[in-house]
Amino acid sequence: MKITDVKVIVTCPGRNFVFVKVMTDEPGLYGVGEGTLNGSEPIVAEAIRHISPLILGRDPHQIEDIWHLLYRQGYWRGGPIFMAAIAAIDIALWDIKGKVANLPVYQLLGGKARDKVMCYSHASGRDEIECEDSARRIIERGFKAVRCQVGNYGGQGIIGVIPPLTPGTPSTAIYEPTPYINSAAKLFAHIRSTLGDDIELLHDAHEQLDPIASARMAKSLEPYRLFFLEDPLMPEHRESWSIVRQASVTPLAIGEIFTSRWDCLPLFMNKWIDYIRIKPIHGGGITEVKKILTLAEPFNVRSAMHGAADIGIIGQAASVAVQSVIPNFGIQEYTRHPEPAYEVTTGACELREGHLYPNERPGLGIDIDEEKAAKYPYQRAYMPLLRRADGTVHVY
Ligand SMILES: [Mg+2]
Repeated sequence: MKITDVKVIVTCPGRNFVFVKVMTDEPGLYGVGEGTLNGSEPIVAEAIRHISPLILGRDPHQIEDIWHLLYRQGYWRGGPIFMAAIAAIDIALWDIKGKVANLPVYQLLGGKARDKVMCYSHASGRDEIECEDSARRIIERGFKAVRCQVGNYGGQGIIGVIPPLTPGTPSTAIYEPTPYINSAAKLFAHIRSTLGDDIELLHDAHEQLDPIASARMAKSLEPYRLFFLEDPLMPEHRESWSIVRQASVTPLAIGEIFTSRWDCLPLFMNKWIDYIRIKPIHGGGITEVKKILTLAEPFNVRSAMHGAADIGIIGQAASVAVQSVIPNFGIQEYTRHPEPAYEVTTGACELREGHLYPNERPGLGIDIDEEKAAKYPYQRAYMPLLRRADGTVHVY
């Protein structure tokens, strides 16, 4: 069997996604993959087009060999753009292998270690009362774990908004860490006392604190027994994770912008974190992320794969397949995709009572409707930026 073509599909059914179809010389046999990188979708699409000729004519079953060929094809290895591009192709090759074997991908990875993957979903509100109401609605849907936030991306640290200079670019939020940290402690005091001890609570600080502020926050949230505190620090701080670690026993999660084993290893080996958020579509695909989770295992680090709405239905299925088989599964983030996304990519993993179920169909069990995708052309979009009250770009 030979790879004959790699089709790149960039589409915006409610938000932008980058999908591929890896075609073979067997009639009707192809694999689907995803390499969506929020805010950089056209660049990943071009990277896939650039590396695709290297695999034409090759046997799609040779996943490990193709992975190393694509990783080492350039002197400039790694980085988010190339790792997302490799991921898209790698995921599609696993889909092909599953279709040929007539088995779901999780069977090829070792078989189920659990029937379903526990998820958390997002509760939010302008204050702790609204957030409690939002959390109760999520719990009523069967979720046992809820991420709680007040305000939007920067919580109550957002104290103003600067409109964009250029139409079509995002506005800039004005952010201060002190009101944010104070509001988070108040939020969890309220949520834990009203929702009780049985529910798992999580919080995402979105990388906006310096090391001492992060340590102070982890300590201040200790009484409320979080499942984890996510991204208090930017991952670039590395050694400063030890300051946060030593300050409290609040479990820590990081890694949703990690793209390789080399990002993860120091945090594993120093026992600075409890949960790793890397996932197939940004970490080089199923092949590499399964290995990274094996590296995490002896250091008691569990998976907590990033699952915001910009990780599409194919990326989600790849995450669920890996997390169905690894022994060190922790939790999966869950966000419902925009409704048109379910027309473009059909066969999404089923969500029941706060758990995602791996597909039982061969491969990943998902297809891409190219005609529907073409109905939703790419829309230029960027990630937001924060500035402090004095106008400085917020750098922590
Ligand atoms: Mg996050």
